[in-house]
Amino acid sequence: MPERSAEERLAACEERYREIARELSTIGIVASGSLARRSHRCGKPNCACQADPPRPHGPYWHWTAKVAGKTVNKRLSDQEAAYYQEWIANDRRLRELIAQLRTVAQEAIELTLSEATSRSKV
Ligand SMILES: [Zn+2]
Repeated sequence: MPERSAEERLAACEERYREIARELSTIGIVASGSLARRSHRCGKPNCACQADPPRPHGPYWHWTAKVAGKTVNKRLSDQEAAYYQEWIANDRRLRELIAQLRTVAQEAIELTLSEATSRSKV
């Protein structure tokens, strides 16, 4: 395979960059945090969760995230948890795409700078 010129490689970078940007524009709602299914004991005496053997409440879905530096925890219905699963997956994809965008950008930066350097030497 013949060596591609810096110009061709830069054009390929830009094409890839636009592809990633297009995919970014199609991402749905994003949510940070994580989901977990947890049971708990309420602490009320005589409740089934305190019995022997204990029958804890739940399990329930919980969404946990850092919001403005504070950990937020919210109990969710199954329907809400299904939404959050999708939103959190979107958020993961968003971060992957941004990482790819940065990688391609770095390649483009190196190509652009080495081109500028080689031109200034002529
Ligand atoms: Zn209880």
